[in-house]
Amino acid sequence: MAKSSRLPRASLVIKGLCLSFLLALNAPQALQAAGHATIVSLTFDDGLMQSAAIAPLLDTGLPATFYVNSDAIRRSGRINNGDFLTKRELDTLFYNGDDIGGHTIDHVDLATLSEVAQRKAICDDLKQLRQWYGNAVYSFAYPFASTGPATRDIVAGGCPGTYGPFHKPIGRYESARSVGASGDCPTCPAAEALPPPDPYFLYSNESVIATDSLAALQHHVTAAEAHGGGWVTMVFHKICDGCDLYSVNEDTLVRFLFWLKRRAVHGTYVRTIHQVIAGDYPGAPPHSREGRPRD
Ligand SMILES: [Zn+2]
Repeated sequence: MAKSSRLPRASLVIKGLCLSFLLALNAPQALQAAGHATIVSLTFDDGLMQSAAIAPLLDTGLPATFYVNSDAIRRSGRINNGDFLTKRELDTLFYNGDDIGGHTIDHVDLATLSEVAQRKAICDDLKQLRQWYGNAVYSFAYPFASTGPATRDIVAGGCPGTYGPFHKPIGRYESARSVGASGDCPTCPAAEALPPPDPYFLYSNESVIATDSLAALQHHVTAAEAHGGGWVTMVFHKICDGCDLYSVNEDTLVRFLFWLKRRAVHGTYVRTIHQVIAGDYPGAPPHSREGRPRD
């Protein structure tokens, strides 16, 4: 589940008198992505009813980022757990290049918790993920897109303690994604900037909901392409036929993935959140004198 959280990063940045943000308010589309391709990140939150994403991701070779609650994954498959991804499914994704990220140990609303409790919810999850995947765990998303005044700094500050038989430090996530603030509202930029101004408060599109058509999903991408590119992060939850407001139809998702794969000829590429943060994405496409590429 996710709700919009448009203000926190803006308030943080304004507090810091960040000139680039104030400029971006005046000319968001001109500044936010100059000189870049359009990069799309496919993010799947919660690990619930998402098994249907695995085959089309493998078929298309498109990488995605899965933000999971490791306690739900750990219990999955043993009892009736509401159809969370199993550890084996998560392994399949991980070993095929997908980005397995954290989302707190059990999907808590961080803004309602003490700093100690927030750190425990974040760090218990990261410790479990590190025990499974070592240092190759990079990305975090705030459950419900909910953050209190200290939440961002807790994530950015990292986790005390060690994991595994060799007592490696748990360390920290390299990014944290919110929900909203790019793509969907009249005053939002069409895409997040590349590189993003605050990796611990990444903008995304609003969560995909059950009534979103294939054309609506495609529009997020083509709108960014038409405004100079940038980083388009899509947020998916359950994959089903209208079982939840926060869901996407399986057929719509599959068709969107195959459409996205073909979009590379337009200078649009799919990368995980980690790949983008690491700078592993193509630069600007060659300038086209013909204007918009053909569909
Ligand atoms: Zn969630």
